[in-house]
Amino acid sequence: MTITRFAPSPTGHLHIGNIRTALHNWMWAKKTGGTFILRIDDTDAERSREEYVTGIRADLAWLGLSPDAEYRQSERSALYEAAFERLRDAGRVYPCYETAQELDLKRKIALGRGLPPVYDRAALNLSYAERADLEAQGLKPHWRFKLDHDEAIAWDDLVRGPQRFEATSLSDPVIRRADGSWLYMLPSAIDDVDMGITHVVRGEDHVSNTAVQLQMFTALGSTPPRFAHEALLTGAEGKLSKRLGSLGVGELRAKHILPQAIVALLARLGTSDPVEPLHDRAALLETFDFARFGRAPARFAEEDLERINRQLVHSADHALVADQLPPEIDEAIWHAIRPNIAHLGEVGDYWRIITGPVDAPAPEPEDAAYLAEARSVLEGLEFGPTVWKDWTEALKASTGRKGKTLFLPLRRALTGMDHGPDMAELLPLIGKDRALERLGG
Ligand code: GLU
Repeated sequence: MTITRFAPSPTGHLHIGNIRTALHNWMWAKKTGGTFILRIDDTDAERSREEYVTGIRADLAWLGLSPDAEYRQSERSALYEAAFERLRDAGRVYPCYETAQELDLKRKIALGRGLPPVYDRAALNLSYAERADLEAQGLKPHWRFKLDHDEAIAWDDLVRGPQRFEATSLSDPVIRRADGSWLYMLPSAIDDVDMGITHVVRGEDHVSNTAVQLQMFTALGSTPPRFAHEALLTGAEGKLSKRLGSLGVGELRAKHILPQAIVALLARLGTSDPVEPLHDRAALLETFDFARFGRAPARFAEEDLERINRQLVHSADHALVADQLPPEIDEAIWHAIRPNIAHLGEVGDYWRIITGPVDAPAPEPEDAAYLAEARSVLEGLEFGPTVWKDWTEALKASTGRKGKTLFLPLRRALTGMDHGPDMAELLPLIGKDRALERLGG
């Protein structure tokens, strides 16, 4: 059974890039009848904040990506401790005493010699006495995971295809700080093993982490999951943009973008399938496959989101958006106004056309008599679903007006606008009393 996880660090709000990662993990789990886990990577106590944890949950719920289970790394240190001890006893983690400045100097020297800045493993060669000496001076070690230089690092990435790394080209990663706190790499692998994660879906900025984590999985006695590293999102100009790093659910909600629009766009962006305004997630799941993702960065343009949103609004059944609409917007009202709006936020403007008061311009002098006639005809009409047709046909016969001269003065008097929803749908909603009042007299 498939088990995926979305593993944000609660050090900020979700942005469009990690919303996409969450979505794809959710989609893969749902498509394959599996489980989608939310794992809060909050080992960095200083930078993690509870408000962000709450925000992440709320954002996922709003997007309809609720997890089947949730874990927090801050509650799992006993597990990490036990694995750490096993790895230490097996010689796969080792203590290091260099300061940040020393490491920086080593890096600069290597680069100056034209060598890759790979950690030289000096700490591995310390004798027991040397270590004891350093600790006697009050130095506390940080810990590195020892890569096996003889073990080939290769995997078949679901997006990128066959990947290969030389272990010697990688630094043994620091996994634990001198104060005992954990860095991301090892707890993540331990959790992936413990939770039985079958697919790790994340951005391609994690490719070299995967190279290291693959050896961690083996060292932990486990078979690694499959990996899918997706090309990153770029702004419309094809560059990584600050804007994308901050654009999140809060802002999109404030702009009245539907969660369905975000899902429909991000499900297909960067794939070989066209982005379509699909309300139905089942249809999106049907075509979802890592093989359809390209390796080129996917361009995210806010105009595309606006366009999909508009198309979804125009085609949305009342039931699909009812929970996001004011209760007075019933099915008939929704149907009348939906072709005229790009966002649900505009609903209020049209609601005011129905309930009034409407700020209609004074009629053109040549229309005054026509509107008086229109009023008296309307007074005598039954206010059913065909009232607009009945009314304008009667007026056409009695005044000889047609086209714009027939319709526009009526629309202006009734709505205060030259354009707007279909009058045939709108007039019954405005109702007889309000319509007569707006026609004056
Ligand atoms: N907390 C990590 C991040 O936000 C998780 C990466 C992963 O999916 O393994 O980058």
